[in-house]
Amino acid sequence: MVVIGGGQAGLATGFYLRRSGLVPGADFVIVDAAEQPGGAWARMWPTLRTFSPTQYSSLPGWMMPPWTGDSGYPPAAHVVDYLTRYEQRYNLAVRRSVSVRSVTRGDGGLLHVHSDRGEWTADQVVSATGTWSRPFIPTYPGRFSGRQLHTADYRQASDFAGDRVLIVGGGNSAAQILAEVSTVAETTWVTLRPPRFLPDEVDGRALFEIATARHRARQAGGPDTGGVGGLGDIVMVESVREARDRDVLQAREPFARLVDHGVRWRDGSESSFDAIIWCTGFRPALGHLRTLGLRGHDGLVPTDGTQAVKESRLHLIGYGDWTGPASATLIGAGRTARELVTHL
Ligand code: FAD
Repeated sequence: MVVIGGGQAGLATGFYLRRSGLVPGADFVIVDAAEQPGGAWARMWPTLRTFSPTQYSSLPGWMMPPWTGDSGYPPAAHVVDYLTRYEQRYNLAVRRSVSVRSVTRGDGGLLHVHSDRGEWTADQVVSATGTWSRPFIPTYPGRFSGRQLHTADYRQASDFAGDRVLIVGGGNSAAQILAEVSTVAETTWVTLRPPRFLPDEVDGRALFEIATARHRARQAGGPDTGGVGGLGDIVMVESVREARDRDVLQAREPFARLVDHGVRWRDGSESSFDAIIWCTGFRPALGHLRTLGLRGHDGLVPTDGTQAVKESRLHLIGYGDWTGPASATLIGAGRTARELVTHL
């Protein structure tokens, strides 16, 4: 068996495979393109805070060590440290710097996993490649000649000291980046819809339960249960609360087009900016599965639970709710992985 991707989703899968009696490195192998552990967390900006405290940001078997500062919301480095120790603790033997290029069907009911470091033959493949390598920027007419970057390229607020900065996006990344950039720069915030702020006492714990309830209701054929929020709603971590106190969290509706020095608004007026930070999300990294011809009309791979509908030997985990409720969160990856391994 081959697990492609050694981020939290791949590790949680490895945990349950090992617990079912399979030997890492012999019965299954986890391969990962990156040199270092931690998945996407190793690439996020250092001041990013998780949207739930450690006890609700843990993988199966071993809890993330507590974080005492910032009301209990740990930074990305704490998560990387936890994932690094997690894979060591369970001897998951992740093979690093192995980039999977494609998966093809072979003879005898086997799948071939082709990488830049050789090939594996497997009777089951789990894809857990996340979204970080596919940052998404929406298309707007016109052209902006200033600096543009995506959440994936953002490092620190001081890079924008004294600038006029436009921040685009209505999720947690946008809110946290806005909160810190606004301490050193003049910021404008654009969101597609009015931003949805969660009550101060609600965080990722509640969001996870809501995602689960919605998923169950949909599976049972019922209507969407709704609730106080979704996984994209903004958690009021300390920096965002502080920005609210400074009255920074005022969003405008989207502009009509980009212009050389900034943007033109729908009323025809223009604003100048030095930089645009696109906090506009990511798409699933599924390019290595293209050869199997599984994509549906929405660009995703249709699944029944985690199993690809058109390829029973392939399972997908992480990416989004379509592979399991909150499957792309720390707490949700464990439950999805347990169901995946039970199925296998
Ligand atoms: P990743 O962590 O991206 O891991 C995928 C792995 O696959 C990577 O190591 C990559 O190197 C490897 N890979 C990719 N392609 C290939 C290939 N072709 N061949 C081999 N290896 C490959 N979740 C929470 O629970 N709490 C939070 O507070 C939270 N905050 C977030 C903040 C941001 C800005 C973002 C983007 C996400 C956040 N998430 C949060 C969501 C989620 O937990 C993370 O995105 C998490 O990294 C997803 O884990 P994953 O294992 O699915 O993917």
